[in-house]
Amino acid sequence: MQYAILSDIHGNLEALEAVLASARAQGAEQIVCLGDVVGYGPQPVECLQLLLKANATIVAGNHDFAVADRIDISNFNVFAREATLWTREQLGDEERRILSELPLVAEFDGFTAVHGTLHTPELFDYVQTTYDAHLSMQEMQQPLCFIGHSHVPITFVQDETISYHLSPTTTVSSHTKTIVNVGSVGQPRDFDARACYALYDAQRHRVERVRIPYDIDSVIAKIRRAGLPRPLGERLRAGR
Ligand code: ZN
Repeated sequence: MQYAILSDIHGNLEALEAVLASARAQGAEQIVCLGDVVGYGPQPVECLQLLLKANATIVAGNHDFAVADRIDISNFNVFAREATLWTREQLGDEERRILSELPLVAEFDGFTAVHGTLHTPELFDYVQTTYDAHLSMQEMQQPLCFIGHSHVPITFVQDETISYHLSPTTTVSSHTKTIVNVGSVGQPRDFDARACYALYDAQRHRVERVRIPYDIDSVIAKIRRAGLPRPLGERLRAGR
């Protein structure tokens, strides 16, 4: 079974279409989305509909819950808050219901999917240090967990100690615990502007992160036309 693991689409339809086309070409049979389908970008409804059409399993991101009015946005930065209020206007009742009912965690045969952390998924904290990884690894019932949220691809492995690496490929052992941050489809923040996602080959226990170029200028033009804050477009070109 080949899985495509996507996170942090953020209403960027061009990036999502490019990633889904790549995943299909690579033989992905199941799409797993780690949340933040919406927020920041100009096509939240289209992104949600495309994922539903692809039969994706989706877990909740903080922006999905923010737009569905399930979490407080007073600690969001000004651009995120403005984009949340704009996105709320775009959604119909059905889309709002779907987002508000997303589960926080999903289990698959051999791995777990969550947006932020496994130890407190409802708080949408970040796994950025080996100590953060340790807290989530204590909750892992399976050898592999996919996360998103930081928009920065990184892999943590617990053997005798916990270490991390930035290599795009990881072979998962059933004797260790591995947390893979799959990066972001629609708003990468690792200074690489290309969309990022991961393929997981369950037979070979192999994870590979893939980078895909897409039409960033088109998204920036849509952000301007929508009246969304301009820096949300400029950051796409810089990948930060
Ligand atoms: Zn996000």
